[in-house]
Amino acid sequence: MSDAASETIYLKDYTEPHHWVRDVHLTFRLAPKATRVLSRITFVPNAENGGDLILNGEELTLITATVDGAIVPMEVSDTHLRIKSADLPQKPFTFEAEVEIAPEDNTALEGLYMSNGMYCTQCEAEGFRKITYYPDRPDVMATFTVRVEGDYPVLLSNGNPVASGDGWAEWHDPWPKPAYLFALVAGDLVNHAGSFTTKSGKDVELNIYVRRGDEDKCAFGMQALKDAMAWDEKTYGREYDLDIFNIVAVDDFNMGAMENKGLNVFNSSCVLASQATSTDANFERIEGIIAHEYFHNWTGNRITCRDWFQLCLKEGLTVYRDQMFSGDMRSHPVKRIEEVLTLRARQFREDNGPLAHPVRPESFVEINNFYTATVYEKGAEIIGMLRRLVGDEAYRKGCDLYFERHDGQAVTIEDWLKAFEDATGRDLSHFAQWYSQAGTPRLTMSEEWTDGTLTLSFAQSTPPTPGQDEKNPQVIPIAVGLIGPNGDEVLPTTVLEMTEAEQSFTFEGLGARPVASVLRDFSAPVILQRDMDAATRAFLLAHDTDPFQKWEMGRMLSKDTLIDMITSGGTPAADYLDALKTVLSDESLDPAFRALALGLPSQDDLAQTLFDAGQTPDPQKIYEAREALRRALARHMSDILPTLFRQHETPQFKPDADGSGKRALRLSVLSLLTLLDDGEAARTLFAAADNMTEQEGSLQALLTAGLGSDELQAFEKQWKEDRLVMDKWFMMQVAFAAPDTAAATAEALTRHPAFTMKNPNRFRAVFGALTSNHAGFHHDSGAAYDLLSKNLISLDKLNPQTTARMSAAFETWRRYDSARQAKIHAQLDRMLATDGLSRDTTEMVTRILGG
Ligand SMILES: [Zn+2]
Repeated sequence: MSDAASETIYLKDYTEPHHWVRDVHLTFRLAPKATRVLSRITFVPNAENGGDLILNGEELTLITATVDGAIVPMEVSDTHLRIKSADLPQKPFTFEAEVEIAPEDNTALEGLYMSNGMYCTQCEAEGFRKITYYPDRPDVMATFTVRVEGDYPVLLSNGNPVASGDGWAEWHDPWPKPAYLFALVAGDLVNHAGSFTTKSGKDVELNIYVRRGDEDKCAFGMQALKDAMAWDEKTYGREYDLDIFNIVAVDDFNMGAMENKGLNVFNSSCVLASQATSTDANFERIEGIIAHEYFHNWTGNRITCRDWFQLCLKEGLTVYRDQMFSGDMRSHPVKRIEEVLTLRARQFREDNGPLAHPVRPESFVEINNFYTATVYEKGAEIIGMLRRLVGDEAYRKGCDLYFERHDGQAVTIEDWLKAFEDATGRDLSHFAQWYSQAGTPRLTMSEEWTDGTLTLSFAQSTPPTPGQDEKNPQVIPIAVGLIGPNGDEVLPTTVLEMTEAEQSFTFEGLGARPVASVLRDFSAPVILQRDMDAATRAFLLAHDTDPFQKWEMGRMLSKDTLIDMITSGGTPAADYLDALKTVLSDESLDPAFRALALGLPSQDDLAQTLFDAGQTPDPQKIYEAREALRRALARHMSDILPTLFRQHETPQFKPDADGSGKRALRLSVLSLLTLLDDGEAARTLFAAADNMTEQEGSLQALLTAGLGSDELQAFEKQWKEDRLVMDKWFMMQVAFAAPDTAAATAEALTRHPAFTMKNPNRFRAVFGALTSNHAGFHHDSGAAYDLLSKNLISLDKLNPQTTARMSAAFETWRRYDSARQAKIHAQLDRMLATDGLSRDTTEMVTRILGG
């Protein structure tokens, strides 16, 4: 594998290409070891800045290349093909080339590769350059015509089918697109078909292509696709624009899924679903990802990014759109709590460490390393704040103007914001700083009460992040409500707009002192610091009308209890246990909400909280305190747990909000019950379960309690032929292992015959689980650190992208004691010292060490 130059690329250096592309014709003659790719590309000189023709190309064997049919002088390196301006016509010309590539040897899963005998592609961000010579940058948009030749029943590419015959098929995509949206699939696949009629009456053929044997796992995904198509018409006025929409499931895939125009390629774990093999969480995720990729057809494809620094333009907006879709399909309050849990666990963690970066980064070495929680999740929070600030109606007006003005273009964050400024007359220059300033703002609040007037005073500050020591105040929408002493709401949700470092807001004419409910619906991605006693928290937990704040109060009570148990060996207060028990047995509350309220802060969250408070977290102590609290909760609620467990049985499985909420509550209860009944209820449920949610949930309850070895064996025996379910089997025994055994369990699993480094899902099942087992990963032996780095070094030779992403497990190393820091440092040094370490992994490890 050639090692491309590791140079840093800067946003400020952006210039337009020397040549635009009008259209592209590609012919693929498929062969595992020697695929020929013939290209015919019409280039148009860019009058703005004429110059050499510069094409990207990596790992290609050039057979021939001509300009208007003639051989001209060209320089070919490991990364580029360059033709001097003097050797080019100063008018549109045709470049033709033939190259050879070896899809079967492509284990990086970028470009054209093979997975279980089928051909597929992944071109975002820069995979197309491994297919043929091309200006592989998103601002170059062109129409593509593709001919695929190969002895396979299914031959697919982007756009509409044009013609086909024995062993060949031709596709034409009339919508100009950048090369990262190119896709090709060929193989022995079967399809689950459907159709959709758009609101203007156009019939669209829908297909989900899968491996033989998976046909019965497509119906849910098909319905999700139809729901997403209808939702985008209704909510954003966006219709689908081709005659056909194809989805293909692929086993070996680095990401979740990819929005290639008209031909979405999915990690099979993100599309295949059935009652027996998928959990409720799987169903919810599949629905969200299918919608996400479909929504990209407008936010990403029809309007794309000028350069990769603008990645959040398509991702932040599309994540926001899929979140709203899922909220409409299921429950907005439950979805919002889940989003905040993810944001805090992944994005706040990133913002607090050496990998912190702005939502729109200023520079990168390898763009693959910036498909991050910050770009996606914080990017979505910015859209949510924008909508809160301008209001629902103006938000829709701004979106309409953006679509109308920029359809068919490759644009920037400035273009996006300008559409909202023009549609609303509002100045968004200060708000725009959310895209350029990294770090999570801390918002401290104090309050004053005099003669019927409540004053809320806020101060904001953002800690330094790598490369950004000085921070400015952000525009923060703070949603506030007031609850009177009798529990009635005296002020419904009102949005305060904070723009200064310090700012006060007054509420006058109040009869009695109310309790302020602040940052309702988590109105901004900030950390709110507010002195509040346990009684006030319990009051809001009981009376707040905002479901997010109601949940947040329970969460904070749990966190305070755990921090006290960890730092001073305290025991949980009876008031706290009573408050949680009241929520759990309150039948007016949605079971899904009650399950979330019962969830305790994660060990990683507690470690960060201790670190923020100036203490050194001890992973073992955190683990023990959390287990002790679980036992205390189980004992305190022992009288209601069996009833709750029975009450929330779902005789008829349906993966909807109602059914999944009941099962979530039932399994949360079961997890506590298992600490009281020696696993009896969990074993019974495991044996009787007719769905994966309960089968997996009961096994997890057993494993967490140190039980379940027979069930683990039975699970393997039942599912050994199902690769997606076997990922769960690999994952569970590591994720829920006791701290002492986690590393050894993971190590043993790497020797299991079904373990393979070539499948990213399987690798993540074992090592993602190991790094999520906080006390196991940070065990003081250092065994898990050693095992992870050893395996990442091996994986890097096959798949740099997944290796680089998984090395982020070490990003929190500075939180811990000096012995652990030294152990992690040694592993990071060992990775950096490895001969031929990829550009992706080198950049990540260097940033983790340097921050
Ligand atoms: Zn996306």
